[in-house]
Amino acid sequence: MSVTERNPVLSEGGPADGGGVRGTEVLLPREVPLGGPRAMLVNRTLPQRRRSLIGAWCFVDHYGPHDVRPGKPAMQVPGHPHIGLQTVTWLFEGEVEHRDTTGTVAVVRPGEVNLMTAGAGIAHSEYSLPTTTRVHGAQLWVALPDGARTGERAFEHYVPGVLHVDGAEVRVFLGTWLGASATPHTYTRLLGAEVRVAAGTTWRAPLDPADEVGVLVDLGSVTVDGVRAERSQLVALAAGTGELVLTTGDEPARVLVLGGEPFGAPVVMWWNFVGRDHDDIVAARADWQRQVDEQRATGHADGRFGPHPDAWDDVLAAPELPTVRLKPRA
Ligand code: MN
Repeated sequence: MSVTERNPVLSEGGPADGGGVRGTEVLLPREVPLGGPRAMLVNRTLPQRRRSLIGAWCFVDHYGPHDVRPGKPAMQVPGHPHIGLQTVTWLFEGEVEHRDTTGTVAVVRPGEVNLMTAGAGIAHSEYSLPTTTRVHGAQLWVALPDGARTGERAFEHYVPGVLHVDGAEVRVFLGTWLGASATPHTYTRLLGAEVRVAAGTTWRAPLDPADEVGVLVDLGSVTVDGVRAERSQLVALAAGTGELVLTTGDEPARVLVLGGEPFGAPVVMWWNFVGRDHDDIVAARADWQRQVDEQRATGHADGRFGPHPDAWDDVLAAPELPTVRLKPRA
């Protein structure tokens, strides 16, 4: 997906919540339109002023279910670039066609993860299929460490098996958990899993206390570490938590567990780019605008972000940069 907030400066800086030891807290979403005037709304919980990262997870959008029948806002995101991150697409309903500058054309389906590695530069488009009437899912980004962030672009698809653990249904789509290992390649230790828990249940699972962990609620309401959260809210667990204790309410719950080792490097996020400093972003924007101009002049383009698929009629131009220098997020 593409960041299309009116003010795309995500690195607003400013005070976080003080320093010191953080307890478990709920991060509330804000509604953000994706794309143009008929845009679909998504609920964004990362990044925000209180918190920039959970492990290397740097961007969490939850959306739907949205009616995308003709005449309704649709998921239609033309070609746009990324640097310095991996996109993780996880759907609960609907089917989305993904096309990118590795030459990949893939249909993203529920229960199947698509992991796109930007490296130094990639571009992709996403359109819900004409047969899709509802879309519902999560669009997630992972920041890449040095080396990988200037490396090759790649696309991986993986269908996790379904684990039945103490009455819960678990799909581990990134990393290793509960004896299952997902195959997609990550560059820092990461965990991504969907967990479904029946109503009125307390479910426990071990966590690596060295990891930062968040629980994004899709369906139902849950209480985690004494903190209650509902749809589209993200519970950030206290540092050092060695066990996930999740209690459901009157309805079954479906959540995503997102964790990983602390990222340990500053990130500058602007539009669809993750860099280390202002100059990384300025260079990526200029390189992408050259491909936008070439696409519009000739109907095709190539460069840092790779060769545009023939199917692309147009691509998204980058917004104007802010007049101030972008600052890293801690
Ligand atoms: Mn995207």
